[in-house]
Amino acid sequence: MNIEKDCVVAIHYRLTDSEGTLIDSSEGQDPLTYLHGQHAIIPGLENALEGKAAGDSFQVEVQPGEGYGEINPEMIQSVPRSAFEGIENLEPGMPLQANDGAGNVHHVTVREVTDEAVTIDANHPLAGQVLHFDVTIDSVRAATQEELDHGHAH
Ligand code: ZN
Repeated sequence: MNIEKDCVVAIHYRLTDSEGTLIDSSEGQDPLTYLHGQHAIIPGLENALEGKAAGDSFQVEVQPGEGYGEINPEMIQSVPRSAFEGIENLEPGMPLQANDGAGNVHHVTVREVTDEAVTIDANHPLAGQVLHFDVTIDSVRAATQEELDHGHAH
């Protein structure tokens, strides 16, 4: 069957950035399985899969607007270095979990470290990036009623 809304789709994929650097891959693992048409995966990839069938392979380039969004400058903040007391080896690229004081934990990435301040970025790590997917469709089947009720693949 061809991929349409409410199919359960399993894909193998390779994700690279615009320089060809590997970001993520399902190689050597179970395929990524998702319920099509429920926004379980980024729109640019979901749209490219529409109508395809098991065994099909294709490549698609996804712009940030159809991927993880553009970088929001308001989500990049400078915080006094003293707020990071006790954290060793602070360096650019380091992932951190930040507590906002209201009980919410945010995943952020350290962008810059000086003696006075640390710049942290709460954007998705892939925000602003053009993504290149290399996809092979492993299987396509109709979702069960239970999967439709839950809104995800089992
Ligand atoms: Zn479920």
